Amino acid sequence: MMTNKTVISSGHAKYVRGASCYIDEVDEARKAVDQVAEYLNELGCTVYKFHDDTSKTQRDNINAIVKYHNSKERDLDVSVHFNAASKTDNPRGVEVLYYSDSNKKLAENMSQAISKASGLKNRGAKKRTGLGFLKGTSKPAILIEICFVDSVTDVNIYEDKFDEICRVIAETISGKMLAVVKKASTKKYHTVVKGDTVSAIAREYDTTIAKIKSWNKLDSKYTIWIGQKLRVE
Ligand SMILES: [Zn+2]
Repeated sequence: MMTNKTVISSGHAKYVRGASCYIDEVDEARKAVDQVAEYLNELGCTVYKFHDDTSKTQRDNINAIVKYHNSKERDLDVSVHFNAASKTDNPRGVEVLYYSDSNKKLAENMSQAISKASGLKNRGAKKRTGLGFLKGTSKPAILIEICFVDSVTDVNIYEDKFDEICRVIAETISGKMLAVVKKASTKKYHTVVKGDTVSAIAREYDTTIAKIKSWNKLDSKYTIWIGQKLRVE
């Protein structure tokens, strides 16, 4: 999918709560939507996000979500939910719901991508014709059920792979890849032996004498001594 403009919203509402067990659906959906929106911004996409903070009834809630989506110029509507069935230790997994058959492929791709990035079981794409969000929104739409709030295995995976899940949702929506996260630089040390010089050490570790001087606060003569631990990276 190459989507430049997306509206993404969290399922349910502040006062019309969704499923709750080991984690709370509304709280987690909001977190995920915020993170996905951030990644879509990073990818240069236009994104509008919505959390319903006012509705007091289910009908008002669906209407508010649908109205927000339909008020924006966009290519795709995305709703984020979490599933529930009954308490279990077993894995249940991710599924992505769609209404129009033309969105089946995107739903399949999304479910598979989240599964692959996280290790959540892939339940795949499911056609649903009775859901207010899918029925009411006028653009291509998918509803992501990230995992089950009442599966211990799902919740553990979700909490561990939250960032990976949000990244891959943004990447699948946009058809673009996010920059790979740079690992925090690890410091490296060299213990000075007889015959070492700063310039030789700099060459050995593919760095510069200026960096070694600054990391180790060497004097202007680059004085070092045998047994000294020098930071070299
Ligand atoms: Zn839900």
